[in-house]
Amino acid sequence: MLKKMFFGLSNPRIEYDLLPVPSPEPEKVAASKTVTLFHKKNSNQNLPYLIKTGQKVKTGQKISLFADDAAYVISSATGSISSISPHTGDYGQMYIAIKIDIDNNEELDDQFQNQIESPNLESASDYLSFTPGNPLLSAFSDPERNINTIIIRGIDSDLLIGTNQYFVASRLHEVKTGIEILKKISGIDRIILVTAGESIQGFGHIGAEVKRVDTAYPSALPQMIMKNVLGKVVPAGKTTADLGAFFLTAEAVASIGKGFSSGHIPVNKILTFITKDGNRRLVETAIGTPIGDLLTNYGVSVNKEDRIILGGPMMGSAVYSLDHPVLPDTDAILVLDRSEAAYASEYPCTNCGECVRACPARIQIHMLVRFLEAGHYEEAADNYDLYSCIECGLCSFVCESKIPILQYIKLAKYELERANTAEEANV
Ligand code: SF4
Ligand code: SF4
Repeated sequence: MLKKMFFGLSNPRIEYDLLPVPSPEPEKVAASKTVTLFHKKNSNQNLPYLIKTGQKVKTGQKISLFADDAAYVISSATGSISSISPHTGDYGQMYIAIKIDIDNNEELDDQFQNQIESPNLESASDYLSFTPGNPLLSAFSDPERNINTIIIRGIDSDLLIGTNQYFVASRLHEVKTGIEILKKISGIDRIILVTAGESIQGFGHIGAEVKRVDTAYPSALPQMIMKNVLGKVVPAGKTTADLGAFFLTAEAVASIGKGFSSGHIPVNKILTFITKDGNRRLVETAIGTPIGDLLTNYGVSVNKEDRIILGGPMMGSAVYSLDHPVLPDTDAILVLDRSEAAYASEYPCTNCGECVRACPARIQIHMLVRFLEAGHYEEAADNYDLYSCIECGLCSFVCESKIPILQYIKLAKYELERANTAEEANV
């Protein structure tokens, strides 16, 4: 059985773009009429909902669909619920889409005010998981994991994105408050802020070590940070949390800081909006804002076969509806002209070897891809290092046959995970 560790980036060298100093302030764009919130749902949850259409909600109000379920969303607007409908996300993940018609008179929910006097992990998990940056803190309470280090990503994983760089450059006070709260609620003292470029000076006492990573892609991916900053290689099939490291984005830490210092749950997401002409701007908008509202605001037209990507060019996923909302972890929206979009082709693998040369995990991708195309996922995992993949997307980027290798890899991992879960449920 092959189980390779990955070892360093080879070729090609693609650089992260660093924000100019001082960084630009985000432009505020309001949702026009509605926001939509995606509430996670398991396939076996067929109970009646705890909410109904017509119900009024306030900005910052926690909304749960089912009793005794940890999942929830936070309303990012004041208004009334106009629809509750199923939505299927990437790789079959099921959601319930809760649409809210916005009222002009905003009211702030004050439920979280009661939690701020004595911050603790439970209240952070119960109220702040759906905030900008998506700080999912449940790993701290997982008895199988012994988290001893928190790593804050002050640089975004994918190319062209400046969202988390902005937080380090311009909202460091919020990040600093978040670090103080995190130390208190987790009991973990070792916190590392990872940044890039020369802007390493000027952090002062933020309560965290500051480490710089190289600006070559994909050095800001968690597995690369583990290796280059902590000197630990994440074995195939393991996660960074299995090795005691918990990753959060700078925005997620700022959300924790802002939530506990103000008593109001943050609902506005910062994202990098990249249009077809290559223009990049930072935008602040409510979680749940339809992507179409951003396009309309900037006069961006989307023609047939243009592509809208949530995330960056290497790792992002395409969405096919202008109603798709901004999510708590939407760090970028990229609109690609059809001439730029790499559409999957019918060409077979030519064994050119470009993907293997580009892969930081040195996976024999030209072999792996044959098993993935045939749907032989277990063989791909057992014999061709599927679980060594860090999902950087370099292979898809360099593939001359335009084979959607990363999509195949993600689908295979998802299907294997689903099969394992089903097996465990039947034991
Ligand atoms: S996405 Fe492709 S290039 Fe990147 S680690 Fe996985 S197999 Fe290698
Ligand atoms: S880059 Fe594409 S065509 Fe070349 S070996 Fe890899 S999968 Fe095959």
